[in-house]
Amino acid sequence: MEQINDAIKRIEESKNQGLDALLSRVIGRTARIIDKAFMGEEVSVDEGEHLFGIQDMDELSALSIAADEIRREDVGDLVTYVINRNINFTNICNVYCGFCNFMAPEGDDRAYFLTMEEIAEKTVEARENGATEVCMQGGMHPDIDGNFYVEIIKTVKKAVPDMHTHAFSPFEIYYGAKTLNISEEDFIGRLKDVGHNTFPGTAAEVLDEEVRTIIAPRKIPTQTWIDVVKKAHKAGMRTTSTIMYGHMDKPYHWARHLGILRDIQKETGGFTEFVPLRFIPWNTRLFQHSKGKVNPGPTDLDQLKMYAVSRLMLRGWINNIQVSWVKQGPEFAQFSLTAGANDFGGTLMEEHISRSAGANHGQYFPPDEFRRLTREIGRIPAQRNTTYGILKVFDEDKEQ
Ligand code: SF4
Repeated sequence: MEQINDAIKRIEESKNQGLDALLSRVIGRTARIIDKAFMGEEVSVDEGEHLFGIQDMDELSALSIAADEIRREDVGDLVTYVINRNINFTNICNVYCGFCNFMAPEGDDRAYFLTMEEIAEKTVEARENGATEVCMQGGMHPDIDGNFYVEIIKTVKKAVPDMHTHAFSPFEIYYGAKTLNISEEDFIGRLKDVGHNTFPGTAAEVLDEEVRTIIAPRKIPTQTWIDVVKKAHKAGMRTTSTIMYGHMDKPYHWARHLGILRDIQKETGGFTEFVPLRFIPWNTRLFQHSKGKVNPGPTDLDQLKMYAVSRLMLRGWINNIQVSWVKQGPEFAQFSLTAGANDFGGTLMEEHISRSAGANHGQYFPPDEFRRLTREIGRIPAQRNTTYGILKVFDEDKEQ
């Protein structure tokens, strides 16, 4: 905590001195990479790894302030949020990812499986609370197949026809197709035919087999994740992109992960945003059984670097970078918005996955709180839809 408080103080002080003064104190490779990013030149994976390794506080301040400036140049001062609701339709799953405490085996006391009526009710309730999106993901229930996913979309669209469905990770797309014995392209087509809108780019964790085979050995491998995402994009469906970091992974994995996302984006243009998700360790088997070999999530400084480095590496390709109030807490999420990020995420209404893993935050974050925290850092709050269309800009202090 002392280290992050010191870093925050240094960053605040450095802002008062101005970027030029700060950059003049930073020399060598870090300064050259920051310079490249300012010029619009691509920051390589190797250079990204160097930035993740920064320990010097002046260099960290320079990186953070440069990322904030590039954010301002590329997407302006709006901090966006979406009014949405999570519907985690079942926690029954037999994949047993070590970092997940959301899942429950069939018959477990915690196991649940929502009916279609309950999904419809939650959708109507979401709209009554102003939601434009329902975000739906669940466990890999052994008895469901791709038709179940199609049915969910039909149910939501029947309940509230213009509700945006943001649902099913690349793993769920793969699972749905496999259970119906059809190609992923055909399965995506079936979802599209019933009006499905976008896919979350979750289940990415860290896109590197060195890490995946340890933390999620039964999930789809890196190459399959990449292939499924490209198929979705090529079918005209947008997805988000994510990383779940701070466990067995190292900075070079993070830089390579960003490089993979950037390469996909160059080919398809289908990502709407990048969402870093910190590992929440407390109730997970991965952490509890690790005998000290698994990190308890990224440090606060690593989180700031993740926002700043992703802003630099993804520049011109993925321009929306989201903080996570659920996983970071509202105050630290607010501070992370000054290190390169521009989106506050969603109100959620209910959230089970991070809370199961031990996060203290979750459930619901009211829009007026997003707006208050945004104004506190001198930025302008704006409500968006899932694909970053601006619905309303709250540019007057008196406007609530
Ligand atoms: S992360 Fe998803 S697939 Fe893995 S155990 Fe949890 S619910 Fe199952």
